[in-house]
Amino acid sequence: MSKKHLLQAALQKQQKIRALESQLETAKDDYCKTVRDLHLSGMSLREVATMLKVSHQRIHQIVEEGNKRAYSWLRPINPDLRCSFCGLSSEQVNKLVAGPDMFICLCDGCAGTCSQVLKTGMQVGTDDNSFRLLDKAERLRCSFCDKLSGSKRDIVAGKEHQVCAPCIEISLKHMKENKLHPGA
Ligand SMILES: [Zn+2]
Ligand SMILES: [Zn+2]
Repeated sequence: MSKKHLLQAALQKQQKIRALESQLETAKDDYCKTVRDLHLSGMSLREVATMLKVSHQRIHQIVEEGNKRAYSWLRPINPDLRCSFCGLSSEQVNKLVAGPDMFICLCDGCAGTCSQVLKTGMQVGTDDNSFRLLDKAERLRCSFCDKLSGSKRDIVAGKEHQVCAPCIEISLKHMKENKLHPGA
């Protein structure tokens, strides 16, 4: 084969490897996400590890990674951000947690209200800022994690955004621990 043909062949094979690598990456992400869901569905880390026949450390790592990546505690890193539910800026609230893409934020006040709604099932708030528990039949996604409401996932709906029970729990945990943004 000529040099030109060989180069062509090498480039093609390289492309094939890159495509497979990217598929592998997606498959890994997918796997980690499902592992986290398993844990959030109520299984302990140890149970998940036993069922999947992998080490407890590995499962712990996957779950922790998810927690870190999905939510960052922002104030005072970014004063421009506002709570997506009540509209208050990070300067006006005690604590603000951002979702994975930073477009969705939840303040400590709204997080508290959400958890109250989860507990009581009652609607809370004013006309401008109200929270209610989604009916199981309403198929809306959590604005933070993008998961659908369903028999296993309670979602609290504000006026424009929704947040699911696990996301409320993680946000409250981060606020309590005063976790800082990874880059801070
Ligand atoms: Zn708020
Ligand atoms: Zn969620």
